Amino acid sequence: MNAAVCIDPETGLKVFNTRAAEAIEKITGKGYSVVTDQKLTELPKMPAGATFNAEEQAKYLAFKEARRGAADYMAMEGEFKKYLDDVYSEPPIPREALDDECEILVVGAGFGGLLLWQKLSQAGFTDVRFCEKGGDVGGTWYWNRYPGIACDVESYSYLPLLDETGYVPSMKFASGFEILEHCQRMAQKFGFYDHCLFHTTVEATTWDEASGRWLVETDRGDKMRARFVILANGILTTPKLARIAGMEKFKGESFHTSRWNYNIDLSGKRVGIIGTGATAVQAVPELAKVVGQLYVFQRTPSSIDVRDQRATTDEEQTTWAREPGWARARRARFAKISEVRAAVLANDDYLAGKIQDFKERKKHDRQLTPEELMQKQLDSSFRLMEQIRARVDAIVKDPKTAAALKPYYPYGCKRPTFHDEYLPTFNLPHVHLVDTAPRGVSEINERGVVHEGVEYPLDVLIYATGFQWMGTSTFNMVTGRGGRTLKEKWEIEGTRTFLGLHSRGFPNLFIVTGPQGGGGSFNFTDVIYAHADYLVWVLQTMRERGARIVDVRKEPEDKYAEHCRDVDIATAPLRDCISYYNGEGKAAPGSLAYYGGRQWDKYRIEAQTSLEPYAFEGDPNRGLLRQR
Ligand code: NAP
Repeated sequence: MNAAVCIDPETGLKVFNTRAAEAIEKITGKGYSVVTDQKLTELPKMPAGATFNAEEQAKYLAFKEARRGAADYMAMEGEFKKYLDDVYSEPPIPREALDDECEILVVGAGFGGLLLWQKLSQAGFTDVRFCEKGGDVGGTWYWNRYPGIACDVESYSYLPLLDETGYVPSMKFASGFEILEHCQRMAQKFGFYDHCLFHTTVEATTWDEASGRWLVETDRGDKMRARFVILANGILTTPKLARIAGMEKFKGESFHTSRWNYNIDLSGKRVGIIGTGATAVQAVPELAKVVGQLYVFQRTPSSIDVRDQRATTDEEQTTWAREPGWARARRARFAKISEVRAAVLANDDYLAGKIQDFKERKKHDRQLTPEELMQKQLDSSFRLMEQIRARVDAIVKDPKTAAALKPYYPYGCKRPTFHDEYLPTFNLPHVHLVDTAPRGVSEINERGVVHEGVEYPLDVLIYATGFQWMGTSTFNMVTGRGGRTLKEKWEIEGTRTFLGLHSRGFPNLFIVTGPQGGGGSFNFTDVIYAHADYLVWVLQTMRERGARIVDVRKEPEDKYAEHCRDVDIATAPLRDCISYYNGEGKAAPGSLAYYGGRQWDKYRIEAQTSLEPYAFEGDPNRGLLRQR
């Protein structure tokens, strides 16, 4: 067997062999099912006369206000820490603790890490080391393996490096298992595994001014120094639990959806699932296929649009095989889509370049005021939600269940979901929707869930309760100049970044897909591409200029943070509900997600042209090139 750590005689760099072996085999419900019943794959027509009038607005407001303060989550600590165990891999490969130096250290081996490696190595940066908590690559797609998992951005635009690997996804919305395999394919093809320390969690990242290095400490006892640190460990990665009285008493089996325990046989069992977000919407139909009784505990219904899943056609396979760059071109077209629902539907003819637009644009006689424009957007969001609500009535037979499944908030305010089997599942005699609106499940005992005095005895309880936004300890444990952590800075000053990638006082540290970092696309992969390209530019620019350190200046950072705040405020009415996107209604404007569309590119291009936002410090050996 190869040693876990050895030296490449040619480069002198360390080579790692730390990928863990797979621990699970029994996977069910891979999410490939294609529904052909047209009633399930088309939205009902817009109900006549639907307007977002005062009565409807009041209904939305009441729906929202009833939930205010209901979201109470907790981290998986103490007796709940067991829910974080890595159930997917064999135990970590033993290895020595590292006490050495590399040029670039990247946290995370998901899409971000994989793409960064491909781009950095092509640009000649090869002394790059990755630390990954899991036993293999994949990130989100490593941890989330629940039955039914699939991407909800069309896979031909979502999966990175399709042109470079020659791979074509088998379905329009590829299963999570297929995506995980693609991550492994990317890692193999570009030699990623040699550079990655798996089962290694970064616990502290501290700037040392004297050496101009970051000291990175891990749970494996490593103390590594790096000139640059890139945080590519995602913003929705740490699972959370709803805080529910008595949950520690439950005697049955339980787990979180992001650590699906396939060793527990669910067939014929009484299974409960708490939560009805994007995860549960995909998992519930698959669960219903195997369990004896299924209880879905819902606080807020998701909007369930049509999915229209399909297999990749033979024609597509043949055409794309002859067309180098087809995926890049498709992703670029996808990035031009400016409406959430159009992105969800992902019109094939448009994306394949067969037509130039997929809908007729309305021309107005005069320029609309921002207020008029907002009203128009709210009206069209309302009409779409009316169709989504009409779909519930058209599919779900029991009127009480149908009423509970209808969401009353603007489209896209919570993660819009789609599925063609989720709603019909509630017509099955063994599937029960337990409507816990608006406060949610509040009691669990030894036997199961208790709601409004009714006990629901369960053999297995599944928490589909989501993830902490920026909940990785990353932001607590990055200590920059002056001994201040990133978390402290953002708590005192508000989230402050330049392009989401730099934060002043944290030189040579870059955050990929963090707060304020979103680009102009609904496709997360696009954002990762944009960030990776940008970082290669930063590093190349520094190399060319002999710069040792890069930080950002105060004014551009303040201006950019202000811009994020302004666009958040300006677009807030479109997302007026309680959601993790807005910190359950508590986040300061501009502090979390970014809604500035292509403005991100504008700021980036201006910065790259003028270099004004940057504070470069030179290499002492080569003279100070530029300092502000
Ligand atoms: P989530 O959207 O945060 O959903 C958590 C669910 O738990 C919500 O329905 C929430 O209700 C519910 N909940 C919390 N406490 C409760 C209580 N006490 N009683 C009853 N219900 C309770 O988490 P998620 O579904 O795992 O999705 C997280 C994100 O991951 C998605 O939005 C998406 O970005 C990503 N994701 C993507 C895909 C994909 O690409 N295919 C699939 C899955 C997930 P409230 O709504 O009332 O708070």
